Amino acid sequence: MNQIRKTAFGYSTQCNIKCAHCVAAQDSIGHQNHKMDLRRARDLIDEMAGANVTAISFTVGEPLIFLNDILSLVRLCNKYGIYSRVVSNGFWAKTPEQANHIISELKITGLSQLRLSFSRWHQAHVNRENILNAAKSCQKFGLDYFISFVTDFSIDDDPFEQYLHDNRLKYFPEPLLYFGRAEGLNRIQVFTDYPPHLCDMNPILTPELDMYACCDAQNRFEKTNFFFIGNVKNHTINELFEKYEQDSLFHLIKTVGLSKIATFTGLKASEIVKYRKCELCEKLFNSPENLKFLRNKVDANQGWER
Ligand code: SF4
Ligand code: SF4
Repeated sequence: MNQIRKTAFGYSTQCNIKCAHCVAAQDSIGHQNHKMDLRRARDLIDEMAGANVTAISFTVGEPLIFLNDILSLVRLCNKYGIYSRVVSNGFWAKTPEQANHIISELKITGLSQLRLSFSRWHQAHVNRENILNAAKSCQKFGLDYFISFVTDFSIDDDPFEQYLHDNRLKYFPEPLLYFGRAEGLNRIQVFTDYPPHLCDMNPILTPELDMYACCDAQNRFEKTNFFFIGNVKNHTINELFEKYEQDSLFHLIKTVGLSKIATFTGLKASEIVKYRKCELCEKLFNSPENLKFLRNKVDANQGWER
């Protein structure tokens, strides 16, 4: 398969705040030892370049806690012509001057894009002016950016969205995922028609050097470990990407979508519409029985168009 290779790069799980909705949160978040060795991270990027990885997103925790390390990794990406993105909560942009200082460094280093996280949960810890300062600095220095506006689609989020709109900032709504700390949050009913629920499934490399097929769910499908691809200690980066690309079920999630897969397993349409995308994914693939059924079907190459 000739696919575009891109990955999330979890240099560290550490974060300086504790959002109530954090997907990445586990008991371990914030511990000092969940961080890659910088030299190892550089070697991995060298290897990724050789394996034709074309885009790397530095995410998980708050990458810019380790500003100098991330600058060094972004510089390396730039050397190889790899598209680089940093995902940040904007804690460092308390004033326009502070924002300008960081953004100018990221720009000079060759960062391709900054993604700023914004939500009523983030903004319980980071002043929303930080996001404005960071976005304005990006505009000033010509660094591409967008704001990821995480929402549960409740009216509580309307003032937050209005703030982004009033300040003419570039933002995209992103549905809250009920993983991690968000598992305990109230779920309002979302009304929509029958969505296909295709998913891009960004793979991720964790600080422990495990690769997972989904950067949001990672190891959360504990009954099946469905998304686990392998560890860099036992496989080359190229081998891990090949495993990811050759998995028929991952391919179906990206191209056929979860709703059709759910229909194939016998789930009624009236049931399917009650699920959010990741919850449907969990129902299908965190069940050993379902997974066995689906693996047998794809292995036997039995059609999806019944
Ligand atoms: S959501 Fe992001 S900023 Fe908030 S605690 Fe989790 S990693 Fe940190
Ligand atoms: S739908 Fe599945 S693969 Fe996609 S983000 Fe959700 S859990 Fe991950």
